Amino acid sequence: MRGFLPDCDIRVPGSLAEALGLLSAEPGVWTPFAGGTDLMVVYNAGRLKATRFLDLSRLAELRGIAEEGASLAFGSLTSFSEIREHRAVHQHFPNLVKSARATGALAIQNRGTLGGNIVNASPAADTPPSLLAYGAELELVSLRGRRRVAYDRFHLGYKQMDLAPDELVARILVPMPEGRSFHYFRKVGTRQAQAISKVCLAAHARVADGCVAELRIGLGSVAPAPVRARNAEAALIGKPVAELPLLAARAALLGDMSPIDDIRASAHYRSVVTQNVLGHMLRELASV
Ligand SMILES: Cc1cc2nc3c(=O)[nH]c(=O)nc-3n(C[C@H](O)[C@H](O)[C@H](O)COP(=O)(O)OP(=O)(O)OC[C@H]3O[C@@H](n4cnc5c(N)ncnc54)[C@H](O)[C@@H]3O)c2cc1C
Repeated sequence: MRGFLPDCDIRVPGSLAEALGLLSAEPGVWTPFAGGTDLMVVYNAGRLKATRFLDLSRLAELRGIAEEGASLAFGSLTSFSEIREHRAVHQHFPNLVKSARATGALAIQNRGTLGGNIVNASPAADTPPSLLAYGAELELVSLRGRRRVAYDRFHLGYKQMDLAPDELVARILVPMPEGRSFHYFRKVGTRQAQAISKVCLAAHARVADGCVAELRIGLGSVAPAPVRARNAEAALIGKPVAELPLLAARAALLGDMSPIDDIRASAHYRSVVTQNVLGHMLRELASV
């Protein structure tokens, strides 16, 4: 059963200061509303408890993709379509383009935002593994000021985040890779498109003198929140790309996951397929 629209109060602030003022005056009362593609699903199911919404759509401060020093800064209202169409994103962050293409269909990509994908905090969301692999940072804003949080420290558990009720995600800053680097993104779903991930793995590596100099691996759908595969990374960093320790990395990866059985896949399927995707990633890395 749908929610009851007359119960809802929707404010459309014209400035960031006005929005932050409302959040600060009544913390936890106002729910930010970006593209609404997650919120409306819950509303439509009659399960949305919130009735007071802060429509962010007029906040120019949360829009745009721009170079800032050595990073590319994405306003939290950046849509998946904007990610897909931006030249610098293609050039520096192909995994983000692949994540955006893998998210829903065009209607969702036109409306859904990067900030909403992060704060909805679904373990199965598609941009978080790429953001983890690229070492992204979040800029959070409230009337108290701005602060930055490394994205790999933002998710604290299932739908638990380092985000206070009076804060908004303002921007997502992603450091631009130096030199030639390796990018890998793989989403496994029931179909090639319009499917929620059963497993998602994104990786970004830098190879120097024939060895893995830097590597970050982000995982989706295998833990209560998107996670870094730190054990697998540790098994691979410093190793020659010609002799990557596949079996040790596969074993280490088990320590990075805590998958569950649900309607989309079993925990066993998720473990085995994530290990297989890691193997595929390592074969590609070995051939660069
Ligand atoms: C048919 C369909 C298919 C989908 N397919 C996929 C898919 O393949 N992959 C995938 O990852 N997702 C998918 N989604 C989920 C959804 O589209 C994404 O998670 C999207 O990024 C949500 O963004 P939004 O702007 O619509 O968020 P909203 O629904 O507006 O908000 C989501 C949450 O984030 C909060 N929020 C939003 N912006 C901010 C901000 N700046 N600061 C603080 N809090 C904020 C809101 O309060 C809310 O709690 C799908 C959804 C639908 C309906």
